[in-house]
Amino acid sequence: MTAATLRAIACTALGVLLTASTAAVAGNGPPQAPSVVVLISVDTLRADSVSFDGHTPQTTPFMDRLARDGVVFTQAYSTSSWTPPAMGSLLTGLYPTSHGVTTGNIQHLGRIVQPPLPEALTTLAEVFRKAGYTTIGVPANRHLMASLGFGQGFDYYFGEAAFRPAPGVNGEVRRQLEKAFGPLWRVRWKQGKVFLWIHYFDPHDPYRPNRRWLDRYAPEYRKNPAAFPANIVMKDLHERFPHPDAVVAARIRPLYEGEVAFWDQQFSLLARELGLDADNVLLAFTADHGEEIAEHGDLGHSQSLHEELVRVPLLVHWPDGLPRGKRISAPASLIDVYPTLVKLAGLEVPSAIQGHSLVTEMRGKKPDPERPVFMELLPPKPHLLAMRAGEWKLIRSLDPGGTASLYNLSTDPGEHHDIAAAHGALVRSLQRRLAAWYKSLPPAPQQAPVPLTDKKLEQQLRSLGYID
Ligand SMILES: [Zn+2]
Repeated sequence: MTAATLRAIACTALGVLLTASTAAVAGNGPPQAPSVVVLISVDTLRADSVSFDGHTPQTTPFMDRLARDGVVFTQAYSTSSWTPPAMGSLLTGLYPTSHGVTTGNIQHLGRIVQPPLPEALTTLAEVFRKAGYTTIGVPANRHLMASLGFGQGFDYYFGEAAFRPAPGVNGEVRRQLEKAFGPLWRVRWKQGKVFLWIHYFDPHDPYRPNRRWLDRYAPEYRKNPAAFPANIVMKDLHERFPHPDAVVAARIRPLYEGEVAFWDQQFSLLARELGLDADNVLLAFTADHGEEIAEHGDLGHSQSLHEELVRVPLLVHWPDGLPRGKRISAPASLIDVYPTLVKLAGLEVPSAIQGHSLVTEMRGKKPDPERPVFMELLPPKPHLLAMRAGEWKLIRSLDPGGTASLYNLSTDPGEHHDIAAAHGALVRSLQRRLAAWYKSLPPAPQQAPVPLTDKKLEQQLRSLGYID
C-alpha cells in the first residue's frame, strides 16, 4: 500500500466521522440549514424507469434506498422534452420562454447556435454562491457548457464532460473537488458550505448493452445480439425504424433499462465514497426529460409533450430536515426544485422565480392536487404547449392547423385516447387557462446567440439527433 493510498483511507475515515457527528447534532433539534446541497440530474431518465416509481425488475436499488428515507414526488414534470429548455428551467426556476434557452439545434451557415442562459437571470448556483457556498458544477452534456451561460454562479465548472459515461463524470467530480479544496479535499470538502450539481448522461442514446444487467432484462440478448438495436445513435434509429412499434420497443427497453441500472450503480459508488447519501446532506435528484420508446409512434425526445417525455423522477433526500419515506402525488415541476432547495437552505427565493417551493408540502401541508403545471416546446421543434391540472392533461399545438388534445390521466395514464372531441367545454376552459399562462410569461432578457463552430461537437450533436 502506498503512502498516498494510506492518506486517502485516513482522509475518508475522518470525513465519515465528521459527517456522522454533524448529522447527530442536527438530528435532535429543529432542522438546521444544510451545509452541503447536492443536485443530481440525469439526462433522458423517464419517471417510470426508476424502481422507486414501481418499475420492475429493479433498476435503481441505490436510489430506491434514498427514496425510502426521502420525499418522492410521484407526478413531477419537466418544463419541456429536451435538454436546453428543461435544464434552463431547473437552474433558473423559470419556464423556457422566460429563460430563453428554447433552441439549440439551429443551423445558420453550417453553425450550431444556442441562445445562452441570460446573464441577467439569477441562477440557483448564484444564490448559493452569494450565501457563501462553494459552488461546483459537472454537467456531462455540451448543451450545458460554460460558454452557453450554464456556468453562471459556479466557482468550479467542468462543462466539457461532453456526453461521457458515469465513471468519467465521477472522476471529474473528484478532480473539481480537489481543485476546490486541495489535496486533502476528502476531509475538507464538507467542512464548509458546498453546492454541488452533477448532470449524468448515461440513459441517453445510443443505448449500450450493459452485460451485468442485460441477462436480467433481456436474457435472449446473448443468443441473438443482432436482434437488438444496441449502440445505434438516434438519427440511425429513426432511419432504421421510421414507424417503431411494440416489437421495436421490446428490443430497446431492456437496453435502456440496462443504462439506467448502470447509472444507479455508478452513482452509488460516488455517493458512498463522498457521503452524498448522509443524513445531513440535502440531495435532490431529478431528470431533464424522459424518452419515448414507441409509445406514440416515435423514438427519442423533443418531438412531443406526452407523459413518457415530460414526466421525470423527483426525490429530495435530507433525513435530518425532512420526513422519511414520504410520497406526494400532487403535480410538481422542475421549476419548483430551485425555490425548494433555496428555502430548505434558509435563503431568500428571488422574486422573479416562477416555481413554487415544495417545502411546506414536504413537511406536512396538504398539497393542492389542482395546482397546474405547464410545459412548452418551441420551434423549430413542434410548437406545443401543455398543461396538467388535476386528472386532465391538455396538449395544444400552435403550429399551423394545430389542434388540442385532451387526456384523462387517471383513466388513461399513457395518453392513448384523445377525448377532446367529447369534452368541448372543458377543452375551451383549459385552453383559456393555458393561453393566459403563456401570455403572462415575461420574455427572456435579450442576449446574442453563441455560435458553436466546433466541428467535432457538431458531428457529435448531429449523431445524437440534436441537429435535424
Ligand atoms: Zn437531455
